[in-house]
Amino acid sequence: MSYQTKIQNKHPLRIAIVGAEEKKWRSEEQKIRAKNVIKTVLARHAFTETINELNVADTSMKSDYSTIVLVTGGCPRGGVDKWSIEIAKELGINTIIYPPEVYQWHNERCDVCMGNGSVPGAGGTLYQCPSCKGKGYLRGYRERNMLIAENCDVLYDIEPAYSCKYCHGQGCSKCEGDGAYSGGTWTYKYARKLGKEVHKVVI
Ligand SMILES: [Zn+2]
Ligand SMILES: [Zn+2]
Repeated sequence: MSYQTKIQNKHPLRIAIVGAEEKKWRSEEQKIRAKNVIKTVLARHAFTETINELNVADTSMKSDYSTIVLVTGGCPRGGVDKWSIEIAKELGINTIIYPPEVYQWHNERCDVCMGNGSVPGAGGTLYQCPSCKGKGYLRGYRERNMLIAENCDVLYDIEPAYSCKYCHGQGCSKCEGDGAYSGGTWTYKYARKLGKEVHKVVI
């Protein structure tokens, strides 16, 4: 029994798709290939049944996209996150999006509530801080990535070739030799550490 089959009985399979932002993709052709990979990944995991109503040789596959949910990071700079959300919407797939609340790696203390998570209202009553939703801080990319890894069953990291800023595509420990790296790859490695099923696709 596959991992997918086991999970499917419990809840919709949560498929995280992460990867490089828009500007890292060098050509329209490369972007189209990335979008096709996203579609293939989603179709592969959606429960499919073979339709052969007339019992003839001509069979077709029907995908039930309600059996999966897309998890992604809502990157403000576009790319894989944005394409995944667009494709999920086209196919009628539900999405769980973890956007960063501050555009930096680490969390930042919330200035509105001074890190308390609550703000005083009329009559001295305390209300949940509307800016940080009671957390006392704004979520940076690091925590955003961890949330994606923790809240998925399968994760795909989709990266353009030669995008590793540490080795410029030569291969290093950060990209694990394939020359492709982004924040998505950080998430991929973190999810793997958590024991999740992970895949990296270099395009
Ligand atoms: Zn706050
Ligand atoms: Zn590298």
